[in-house]
Amino acid sequence: MPKQTPDSFVTEITPRSQDFSRWYLDVVRRAELADYSPVKGCMVIRPYGYAIWELIQQAFDREFKRTGHVNAYFPLFIPESLLHKEAEHVEGFAPQVAYVTHGGGEELEEKLVVRPTSEAIFGTMYAKWIQSWRDLPILMNQWANVVRWEKVTRPFLRTTEFLWQEGHTAHETEEEAQAETLMILDLYASVAETVLAMPVVKGIKSESEKFAGAERTYSIEALMGDGRALQAGTSHNLGQNFARAFEITFQARDKSVQHIWGTSWGVSTRLVGGVIMTHGDDSGLVLPPLVAPFQVVIVPIGRDNWRETVLPRAQQIRQELVSAGIRVTLDERDERPGWKFAEWELRGVPLRLEIGPKDIEKSQVLVARRDTREKISIPMDGLASRIRELLDDVQRSLFEKARAFREEHTQRVESYEEFKQVMDGRPGFVIARWCGSADCEARIKADTQATIRNMPIEAATASGRCVRCDNPATAEAWFAKAY
Ligand SMILES: [Zn+2]
Repeated sequence: MPKQTPDSFVTEITPRSQDFSRWYLDVVRRAELADYSPVKGCMVIRPYGYAIWELIQQAFDREFKRTGHVNAYFPLFIPESLLHKEAEHVEGFAPQVAYVTHGGGEELEEKLVVRPTSEAIFGTMYAKWIQSWRDLPILMNQWANVVRWEKVTRPFLRTTEFLWQEGHTAHETEEEAQAETLMILDLYASVAETVLAMPVVKGIKSESEKFAGAERTYSIEALMGDGRALQAGTSHNLGQNFARAFEITFQARDKSVQHIWGTSWGVSTRLVGGVIMTHGDDSGLVLPPLVAPFQVVIVPIGRDNWRETVLPRAQQIRQELVSAGIRVTLDERDERPGWKFAEWELRGVPLRLEIGPKDIEKSQVLVARRDTREKISIPMDGLASRIRELLDDVQRSLFEKARAFREEHTQRVESYEEFKQVMDGRPGFVIARWCGSADCEARIKADTQATIRNMPIEAATASGRCVRCDNPATAEAWFAKAY
């Protein structure tokens, strides 16, 4: 960390309530999560930010593997002609594609696309690998970077290059592909809620918001601290669109030749932004213990000779917690404790352990929670299991707090006047009935800036009338201003 005077330390972050967007950038910079790179729109993910991403990545990867998926790696470059095979797909991505035109000092015969997503290359390879129904299903995932040329960028939320995972599966039947699409949607929601402590709404996207080339797109949507929604993951039922474009066929059980049914799905480093904006406060980052690079920071307290009197005991405690599988750091730097407190608060460490000469006498430590700022004394005896309980409690509390926030900022409306009023005043989700027309959707967006985030699956067959045009409604939709 750069040296700071204690006073300038915390005030360097713009208060969240004052300017959320500025606050976000301050936190990203001061907590050393990411930095701008010499290439416009690209970010450098710094070690502390990358450690959060790794924990998110590991949590999803465990679930993918548990549900029978395997990882592979496909190339960064895709021949231009392949991207052009699926018409809607190329149209959807064309404005954001980066090309390689030269290599080895020569102009290439065929331009290469830097992958914006990998349906085209997976499709090409699946066409080679799949012959019979016995080869199905294929349940493959890759962890990779992709490039989408963006005009307006923001660290983690929208960058020209980003990290993600993309699952691509091939199935024998339509039902299987649909079941996979929804299983992944559930998996995404479950990891978002249990690991990131980020409550999400699961549902289907409208036609205008679906993935280019998909039959149906489903998403999980979270509500950020400023009342804007964040699309946190998507799962697409591709039907047979890519199978037809890439001629992915198989001999079916009845010996007929058929096209496979496909899905694709992804979550990205955007989730790091989601964690920051769901839980952060005026003092900076607040990390759920399951994605915190350090779950506990130990700060030795004491006057001049603390290195002799306190440090050895602090080191023992660190060792004890590490042995119990807790991620812990001991701050041995020669700075005032108050300065260290502010710094680790800024970096969102869930628990701070303070230990001084008096604590050692009483055989206890003082624990401060980052989320509630509550301080409690805990006996050193049995410390690890007590810390584990506290971490579980922080994890649960953060989820409950975020869920309560979402409930407070979700309103069901019956009339368009009410819709506009709510959107004008207090941001958040608005639930309203919709007729299914793209025109209505576009007008609502023009009037209020709110878009349909998704339509919860169980509520997809709503009765009643469209909130804007009064025609019969086909769905109940969740609207919000979105990132
Ligand atoms: Zn309508």
